[in-house]
Amino acid sequence: MSGIRIEEISKTFGDQTALSHVDLEVREGEFFSLLGPSGCGKTTLLNMIAGFLEPTTGGIWIGGREVTGLPPYRREIGMVFQDYALFPHLSVSDNVAYGLRIRKMPRKDIAERVRESLALVQLEAYASRMPHQLSGGQRQRVAIARALAVRPAVLLLDEPLSNLDAKLRKDMQTELRNIQRTTGVTTVLVTHDQEEALSLSDRIGILGDGRLQQLGTPLDVYRRPSNRFVAEFIGQVNLIAAKPLQGDTGLGGAQAYAATELETAQGRALRLDFDPSAADGGSSAEAASPGGETLFMLRPERIRVSAPGREAGANRTPARVSGVSYAGSMMRVQFELEGRGSLTVHASDPEFPSLPEPGQFYDLHWSAQDLIPILPGENPL
Ligand code: ATP
Repeated sequence: MSGIRIEEISKTFGDQTALSHVDLEVREGEFFSLLGPSGCGKTTLLNMIAGFLEPTTGGIWIGGREVTGLPPYRREIGMVFQDYALFPHLSVSDNVAYGLRIRKMPRKDIAERVRESLALVQLEAYASRMPHQLSGGQRQRVAIARALAVRPAVLLLDEPLSNLDAKLRKDMQTELRNIQRTTGVTTVLVTHDQEEALSLSDRIGILGDGRLQQLGTPLDVYRRPSNRFVAEFIGQVNLIAAKPLQGDTGLGGAQAYAATELETAQGRALRLDFDPSAADGGSSAEAASPGGETLFMLRPERIRVSAPGREAGANRTPARVSGVSYAGSMMRVQFELEGRGSLTVHASDPEFPSLPEPGQFYDLHWSAQDLIPILPGENPL
């Protein structure tokens, strides 16, 4: 039993509230990420799990045992920091052995455990080096080996990869996930990098403004964001406000809406056909419609582009290219509608063998299932 339970945690610094009523559970053996923009309270929460900070109200349990009020060394945690925090005057193996010596493990067992831990991060050959003789990636692997050597109940990682360059960071992400799978240690990663959280985690807790905004798998939070904050924070998004068209049903039970800020030619509101069965697990269209207006999310990669037929209709509109930026694996194309409003599309090479030119016309279309109703604003759990 080495899950983590966080119950009704709040933290204030003077008159500033850093975290407010956070409730969450990290399951045993899970790779869990705390994701959110700068200043949302991620590090504060991690430091409270570690015992470096105490909550103002609420409690924390690790492996079923309440640890609120206990010092870090009595919580069975291993921690890795952004700046590695290795002891500069100790060799790699002495760094890894440090926590074991403090725990008064017998010398011969320490040597064995250090060997095992360095093998886990593939640094056996570097045991006698000093930290300054290592690259950033190697230093971070030593920090991970040091944290794991004491066989902690939970591994806490505070932005451990953010000092590494893009390529090394990707390699280390894979390595981190492999190490976590091999050891099965319950892991909490703090990151502000959406892609990192999506690709590494079993589940993600998204924090915004000191509150838990959503808790779910990477697929949940990307495809079914619970509110506007999460939708905009995780990836790019087109947000379309629309009003229901009374008494009008679309194909296959779809509900018809008129976009309030997107107009095709002659000022005609763009018609949206929304499939309510596709909103399972997300916000319902009713919940997402204060004042009779529903906010729909349409991810840029769900919009398809075809040669112009200049046809308008449900989930279909002619549009003019107004901007293009090439990002290698995809192309970000900004389209203006003929009447009013714009949509961003992430297109792939087959759709545009060459870069589109501003001013060119295309047809944009998407399916009824791609419109996801979301709650406006930051409505936390
Ligand atoms: P970042 O990604 O920039 O590290 P974060 O999400 O980890 O941000 P925290 O460091 O947890 O954010 O900070 C949350 C809020 O609490 C911030 O507004 C911060 O200024 C404030 N805060 C954190 N520590 C203290 C402190 N010791 N005293 C006063 N305010 C603090």
